[in-house]
Amino acid sequence: MTGPLVDAFGREHTYLRVSVTDRCNYRCVYCLPAEGMSWKPREELLSFEEIGTLVQVFASMGIERVRLTGGEPTIRSDIASLVRVIAATPGIRDVAMTTNAHTLQRLAGPLAEAGLSRVNISLDSLRADRFRKLTRGGDLARVLTGIEAAREAGLTPIKINAVLLTGQNEDELFDLVDFFGRWPESTALRFIEYMPFQARWHKSVSSAELRRRLATRVGLVAQRAEEKTGAGPSRTWTVAETGLTVGFISPLSEHFCATCNRLRLGADGHLRTCLAHEDTPSLRDLLREGASEARLARAIRAMVLGKPEGHDCQVDGGVPFEGVMTRIGG
Ligand code: SAM
Repeated sequence: MTGPLVDAFGREHTYLRVSVTDRCNYRCVYCLPAEGMSWKPREELLSFEEIGTLVQVFASMGIERVRLTGGEPTIRSDIASLVRVIAATPGIRDVAMTTNAHTLQRLAGPLAEAGLSRVNISLDSLRADRFRKLTRGGDLARVLTGIEAAREAGLTPIKINAVLLTGQNEDELFDLVDFFGRWPESTALRFIEYMPFQARWHKSVSSAELRRRLATRVGLVAQRAEEKTGAGPSRTWTVAETGLTVGFISPLSEHFCATCNRLRLGADGHLRTCLAHEDTPSLRDLLREGASEARLARAIRAMVLGKPEGHDCQVDGGVPFEGVMTRIGG
């Protein structure tokens, strides 16, 4: 079972994203369709015990960092108990979560206590009305309280993820940078390019264009590799005036497939080796057939060997990503 998880292109995998549910309490316009989305029945989702077993197998193959995502991970009941199990798994050095922060006021403390290291929080607008529209019902005040609770619980550095869509919220670039500039020690702000799944519903501004716009207003100092927090795909700058770290995640315009070290376990047990491709069979079915950990490990290794080299989607064209984001978890 041991030995690094290397694919056919020599990429070694140390990072696993686990989607714990496809459900979400928000319905962000660029993530979920307004209607016609059916949630997976509960029995099709991996149980916490099954996730715990799979994480143990992945950890025996070199996975060191796990991120819980969704859907919205905090709506799965007793999510802190899953954090506790994963954090205690030998080989796992870091457990993080991506959340919309809607329930963090209540959960930040218990999650930190269970062993969660930090959170990434999605926030695309600082205007309550627009936030409600973009999330189809979200509550900005609650999210800001949730962010504060995460900071108090020490779930830092908090990375705020924003997707700026052309003609919708692109005008909030400066407001977001100014607002989070108040907490440069505990917070970083990242702009993620919109990835078209199935249909190309929206247009987003490329990272290069956002950087150009930002540089007309603030001083941007490129960070050296050793200043970066985490080993993620974001390219980071420091805002000279406030010290805030601003990152740009550019899956389309400056894609990072060549160094991709991540795997994605779906809520129903499918292992997605590439964010853009729906390609692999279900680990849940193997688990439920009673497969041993050694057999699971062999299946995982075979799936990783079949990982595609990358995607061919661009900001304004190319082949869209397969699937629905809420089933994958970002
Ligand atoms: N519910 C959690 C949240 O809101 O952070 C976790 C799941 S959500 C799918 C994870 C991240 O994916 C969010 O930061 C969201 O902005 C991002 N996302 C969703 N759809 C996207 C898309 N089409 N392109 C780029 N980012 C997307």
